[in-house]
Amino acid sequence: SKLKETLTKTRNNFVSKVTELVTVHKKIDEEFYEELEDILLQADVGVAAACHLLDEIRSEVKQRKISEAADVRDLLEEKMLELLGEQASLEINTALPAVILVVGVNGVGKTTTIGKLAYRMCQQGKDVLLVAADTFRAAAIEQLEIWSERTGSEIIKHMAGSDPAAVVFDALQAAKKRGIDVVIIDTAGRLHTKTNLMEELRKIERVVTREIPEAPHEVLLVIDAATGQNALRQAELFKEATKVTGIALAKLDGTAKGGIVLAISEELGIPVKLVGTGEGMEDLRDFDSHEFVSALFT
Ligand code: GDP
Repeated sequence: SKLKETLTKTRNNFVSKVTELVTVHKKIDEEFYEELEDILLQADVGVAAACHLLDEIRSEVKQRKISEAADVRDLLEEKMLELLGEQASLEINTALPAVILVVGVNGVGKTTTIGKLAYRMCQQGKDVLLVAADTFRAAAIEQLEIWSERTGSEIIKHMAGSDPAAVVFDALQAAKKRGIDVVIIDTAGRLHTKTNLMEELRKIERVVTREIPEAPHEVLLVIDAATGQNALRQAELFKEATKVTGIALAKLDGTAKGGIVLAISEELGIPVKLVGTGEGMEDLRDFDSHEFVSALFT
């Protein structure tokens, strides 16, 4: 499957090493656990999730009287699946228009993710409106325009430098008037002026809720799978400012550190809802824990 291809680097860096470890290391001793922990950390599973998984494995090994290292591979797969749990999918079957606010640091793949999402929804026959609320960069507005043309979505934009909340207000008015199905709001991601950005996002969220009380239906935080533990710190920042309801994990195809999915689950408690599997318009999929773990292990 395509997800299997996407996870090739992660599989080579992670599950292949586990397979090698359980083959070389027939006995389950302290050294075995230490090496397993190293492999988990190198795949960016993170300290918390790695400890969690190892604790679970140790206790199962005792309980089930497992003595063959080879059986630990299956145990790891089982425990990873348990840790990820059933993940929620995108919440867009709401009263119209559904509003998706997209946040994230510049360069993580935010615009591309918005474009892919718009493409998917247009393909489903939905009327999509893109909102260029990253007014800080003229290039961001231009990029969004390109995606609007490519996907056949409408766009609302103001001039660079204008008030992002005002663009959002106009867009929601237009969406209600035109009977738009899905509104996707692009936001700024400049981190060097952190406080201002977070205030800006809060203001946008307030405007959305004032115009449509149950909106935003989704606040999607886009993070770059390749940035590893750094992505978690970004997530903490955005969580403080907005009600993040889901993670879109971009660039999963380019990284050997796909273990970040487990770190997100363990440390953030926000479901991964979408994964980016390439630069193309169709390279976006709903995240499915079973599919993810099975693509890694088989
Ligand atoms: P933004 O600044 O967050 O809006 O980032 P962009 O959407 O402009 O993306 C930055 C770069 O990452 C671009 O070159 C994209 O083509 C690339 N990109 C985005 N998502 C993915 C993905 O899932 N896989 C790959 N391989 N590249 C991606």
